[in-house]
Amino acid sequence: MIKVNSGLIDKIKISEDFNASACFNCGTCSALCPVGFDILPRKLFRYVLLGEEEKILESTDQVFSCLLCRMCEEQCPHEVNITENIRLIRNYLAKSKLGV
Ligand code: SF4
Ligand code: SF4
Repeated sequence: MIKVNSGLIDKIKISEDFNASACFNCGTCSALCPVGFDILPRKLFRYVLLGEEEKILESTDQVFSCLLCRMCEEQCPHEVNITENIRLIRNYLAKSKLGV
C-alpha cells in the first residue's frame, strides 16, 4: 500500500522557485533527456505532488544522476523550473538520507 505524506511538498518546497505543480505531464522533457530517464522529471514531480515519499526515496540514484543540463527545461511548454526543482529534491534527499 502506498503511504502518502501530505507534508512532503512543504519539506521540498523551501524556495518559491519550486513549481512542480506547473507540470501538465506532456512528456516533452522525458523525450529530450540525453540520459533517457523514465522517471525524470514528470513522474518525479507527480510523486512530490501526491506525497509519495517512498517513491522519491527510491529514486535517489536517478535524481543524483541528472546532469542538470537543462535540455528538458529549454523546451518545456509550461516553463517548469525543472533543474531548480530537481536541485531542491536533491537537497531534501541529502537531508533525509544523509542528514546533511
Ligand atoms: S516538459 Fe514541462 S510540462 Fe511537460 S512533462 Fe516535462 S516538466 Fe511537465
Ligand atoms: S536536466 Fe536532467 S532531466 Fe533534464 S534533460 Fe538534463 S539530464 Fe535529463
